Amino acid sequence: MTQIKRVAVLTSGGDAPGMNAAIRAVVRKALQENLEVYGVLRGYEGLIKGDFIEMNSKSVANIIQTGGTILKTARSEVFKTEEGRKLSYKNLKKAEIDALVVIGGDGTLKGARALVDEYNFPVVGIPGTIDNDLFGTDMTIGYDTALNTVMTAVDKIRDTAMSHDRMFFVEVMGRDAGFIALRSCIAGGAEAALIPEVETDINALHEKLLGYMRQKKTSCIIIVAEGDDAGGAFKIKERLQEFGDDFDMKVTVLGHTQRGGSPTSYDRYLASRLGIAAIEALIDDQRSIMVGMINNEIVHVPFNKTIKHHRTIDQKMLEIINTLNT
Ligand code: ATP
Repeated sequence: MTQIKRVAVLTSGGDAPGMNAAIRAVVRKALQENLEVYGVLRGYEGLIKGDFIEMNSKSVANIIQTGGTILKTARSEVFKTEEGRKLSYKNLKKAEIDALVVIGGDGTLKGARALVDEYNFPVVGIPGTIDNDLFGTDMTIGYDTALNTVMTAVDKIRDTAMSHDRMFFVEVMGRDAGFIALRSCIAGGAEAALIPEVETDINALHEKLLGYMRQKKTSCIIIVAEGDDAGGAFKIKERLQEFGDDFDMKVTVLGHTQRGGSPTSYDRYLASRLGIAAIEALIDDQRSIMVGMINNEIVHVPFNKTIKHHRTIDQKMLEIINTLNT
């Protein structure tokens, strides 16, 4: 059993609201366990450069309510190479760091697995991504806040859509996954969601919109995941225009607004629990696992499992959207 004295924490990939709450929990739990704790700046980039800062309880004061990440984040191509990871390992050893907590998405966990596999270095992952596309946890940190951001935007768009009898296509994040689109469609009372996991049939969509017009709906909002196979919200509007109806159509792309903002109470709670669980797991000599939360209980999911299994969308969500729009 490795005796851990010094741990480091980093955030990597896209930033997600709640990452700061997770950093805070990691730092404070580590201090409670009499561990020294370091922050790594700019994700794996900081490992390669040896960019470490010592952290104490004060370093994480007043951050639970803030979006972004105080440790900064980056996407590092060099870390994907063996040479990059060798440098990282050397820097960790030089700084006498015994274990690492990484907070990020699927790519971040792949990088962590490589470090464990190649150097048997203890790493525990925390799921932090607005996409909610990781297997082995009900929710990822940041997803709930992003959903609330989209829902608020949809509510505002509904006001203008109703006033002008307009149709809106609201593009949300999700390059490969429709989780944000589906849940925000339900929460925002939108009329349909177009997602990468389901092939978009423009003729069927056109029929649906004609139906809404016949029902004399005063507004119509379609949520489009950016990775939808039809090519995004602008493209869908263009293709619908080819039918020659007199639909008044507008497009709103929410973009990076979905990443920012103060985390919801759920994201703060989730991040706090996962941060504590990550340190507990390292003390328990766990490595190569992600901590997740299922049915409000902490679970340990091997990196291999969460990386191998792609999370699939719940068909029930599609049924709910259909039911609510009949
Ligand atoms: P998000 O879901 O927000 O995009 P992510 O963690 O999936 O977050 P990525 O950019 O895919 O974001 O990954 C973050 C970093 O992890 C990469 O920049 C790279 O340094 C590292 N990484 C990704 N894939 C691998 C891999 N196969 N091997 C080693 N490192 C990797």
